[in-house]
Amino acid sequence: MVIKAQRGTKDVFGDEIKTWQKIEKNAREVFSKACFEEIKTPVFEATELFSRGVGESSDIVNKEMYTFYPKFDSKETITLRPENTAGVVRAYIEHNMTRQSPPQKFFYFGPMFRYERPQAGRQRQFYQVGIEMFGIKEASADAEVILAAVEFLKSLNLNNLKVEINSLGCPKCKDDYRASIKEVLKPYLNELCDECKVRYIKNPLRILDCKNENCKKILESKEIKEVIYKDYICNECKEHFDALKKYLDELNINYCINKLLVRGLDYYSRTVFEIKSDALGSQNAICGGGRYDGLVEMLGGNPTPAVGFAMGVERLYSIIKKEQPSKIDYFIVSNNTKEALKLAQKLRQKGKIVDFDYQNRKFAKQFEKAAKVAKNAIVLGEDEINQEYYSIKDLNSGLQTRVNSIDDLI
Ligand SMILES: [Zn+2]
Ligand SMILES: [Zn+2]
Repeated sequence: MVIKAQRGTKDVFGDEIKTWQKIEKNAREVFSKACFEEIKTPVFEATELFSRGVGESSDIVNKEMYTFYPKFDSKETITLRPENTAGVVRAYIEHNMTRQSPPQKFFYFGPMFRYERPQAGRQRQFYQVGIEMFGIKEASADAEVILAAVEFLKSLNLNNLKVEINSLGCPKCKDDYRASIKEVLKPYLNELCDECKVRYIKNPLRILDCKNENCKKILESKEIKEVIYKDYICNECKEHFDALKKYLDELNINYCINKLLVRGLDYYSRTVFEIKSDALGSQNAICGGGRYDGLVEMLGGNPTPAVGFAMGVERLYSIIKKEQPSKIDYFIVSNNTKEALKLAQKLRQKGKIVDFDYQNRKFAKQFEKAAKVAKNAIVLGEDEINQEYYSIKDLNSGLQTRVNSIDDLI
């Protein structure tokens, strides 16, 4: 029987890989310029890291984790990472980075795993690119992180970006807010969708971004709106949020405040943000992130402020302009594989992209291939080898020239 790829996984190659490589290359370039360093953490971690770090009440932990015993007699389960913030925080604590002077700035690129019902745009193995910045409580860090996300998206020619921001406040503010949301929603409890009934107990703020039409309608009622839109955050949180807005103004970043923006994960405090693009429609964000000042401590480290974001690479891929396959510099047409290989080696050492025929096929066949894939063909026939020169044909103009050395050839 033929073995096929697992449901919800995908092979990336051929026409697609160039665009994937561009996404990764641009991430590296843009984030490195802002002094974020790459971090590679393992794809599996102790299950507890995610149940504590992502939050017991989140959908991810409840329904979507790939959790298993690595061996039948193992005592502890492991989990394939459903997201990467918890792993980066674990590494940050484990390597005593809290003792170094802040900030520590990281970016990552890699596969994540969620056991979801596969559907358009959702896979069980999917890729994320993201940033985590530790040690700075000031809003300058929030601005830096949002700026990095925007610059990266711009580098992929995504314009008309809209940044939506909100402040959930510090834990104290968040508690008060949560309490008043619960209070005002109480009479509607029976009308909420089943998920929101659970959220009401576990994480009531998440009701605010429920996609259920009926839940949305309930939130539209006057008394509930009043609670949602009231300024509930304390003065310190307000100053922090105002400072962020000022930075974004100065940076000419187009943003708006969305009071319904709460993000799915429990650990966010103060700033949360999403970035949307016309290319994806108004419903879907390409980037989501925020501040998680409590997470490092919650996972056993010293209290450390932190802020970051993640973006889904498949989603990015779906909306950016696709890269065209580019032609290679030279295709060597020859009936002498040994000489062709030697010439390829020399040219590649000089930085050229070179291929040749491996089977001594007829010249006509080789030229056919050359015309398809290369800018130039180098003919290396018997005359050329014996008399030590190269014939080079520009496959665009058809112009053929003769040169005596590799340097002349280049
Ligand atoms: Zn506060
Ligand atoms: Zn709902």
